[in-house]
Amino acid sequence: MPSEIRHDWSREELLALLGLPFPELLFRAAAVHREHFDPALGQVSTLLSVKTGGCPEDCGYCPQAQRYHTGVDATKLMDAGKVLEKAR
Ligand code: SF4
Repeated sequence: MPSEIRHDWSREELLALLGLPFPELLFRAAAVHREHFDPALGQVSTLLSVKTGGCPEDCGYCPQAQRYHTGVDATKLMDAGKVLEKAR
């Protein structure tokens, strides 16, 4: 039976979900995934750093921030055309 999209979850129902063992959650998520996607297919993604290091912002968790010395050389922002080329 296909899973039903709901927007009326009660607090108790949500807490019960959060209390489920991880393998049960994994099983349920896989079942829903199989309703909508071919389980034999996977998506391949690639991360591209369009600018490495030297960010003027100061997000405490981020090694790209200027104040951190990571040993990785900072680079200028990549040309938009090059980014598009890599994306394609
Ligand atoms: S998360 Fe990192 S890269 Fe993004 S703005 Fe903050 S310091 Fe800069």
